[in-house]
Amino acid sequence: MDFNQHIRVIPDFPKPGISFKDITTLLGNGPAYREAIDALKKQVEHLKIDLIAGPEARGFVVGAPLAYALGVGFIPIRKTGKLPYKTIEVEYELEYGTDKLAMHIDAVKEGQNVLIADDLLATGGTIATSVELVRQLGGNVVGAAFLIELEELNGRSRLDNVEVFNLIKG
Ligand code: IMP
Repeated sequence: MDFNQHIRVIPDFPKPGISFKDITTLLGNGPAYREAIDALKKQVEHLKIDLIAGPEARGFVVGAPLAYALGVGFIPIRKTGKLPYKTIEVEYELEYGTDKLAMHIDAVKEGQNVLIADDLLATGGTIATSVELVRQLGGNVVGAAFLIELEELNGRSRLDNVEVFNLIKG
């Protein structure tokens, strides 16, 4: 399947000059969504994966069905203040200022193999932060899987020793 045909491109969103890749059109198409998750599953099923971690919110719509398909657990990575139990937090740079992502302190056990999933790899800030959270808990990041990788932004250069998987190169 040409997954790209199911991605809607919105020019100048959220600001002038940005060409936003809208995945809601793929998500809204049952056969395309299922095929996309199945195709990502095929790419990663050779890895030994104990858990999948995904950053809110679109990391959930890729990571959770992938976890279900592989029969492994799912870990939500959230903005601070959302998770109810004790958390670890990692700060990351935004264009203006900083933000933090958080994970429950017992979400990953020492030595577990974790695949990170999100909808799109851009500059890599979100995923580098997610990798850091998993590693702080002693997890082993075995890969990062995306529907779309914007290759010109070279986000994968921020993911040292992490194999990157994608369905669409944008
Ligand atoms: P990064 O941290 O720069 O790699 O940005 C990736 C994050 O921003 C992901 O969680 C995406 O959901 C979001 N993002 C950035 N650009 C786009 C886009 O064009 N379409 C959809 N999401 C985007």
